[in-house]
Amino acid sequence: MTKAPFTVVRREDLDPICPHCTQPLTEVYYKAKGAGWFVLPPRNVVYFCPHCRKVLGMGQSKMA
Ligand SMILES: [Zn+2]
Repeated sequence: MTKAPFTVVRREDLDPICPHCTQPLTEVYYKAKGAGWFVLPPRNVVYFCPHCRKVLGMGQSKMA
């Protein structure tokens, strides 16, 4: 593990902003699809904005 070159500050009073619609993200939606998701292999998770529904990121299970 390398040491992070910046200070990490926990700010529960601030909400992240969606980079697409600039709405505050008080919550993030995600969709986990196994069979039926034709592009991604199973166990992949897609996170998306509840306001504009654009994809914020994808998570991959390290267990796969
Ligand atoms: Zn958005």
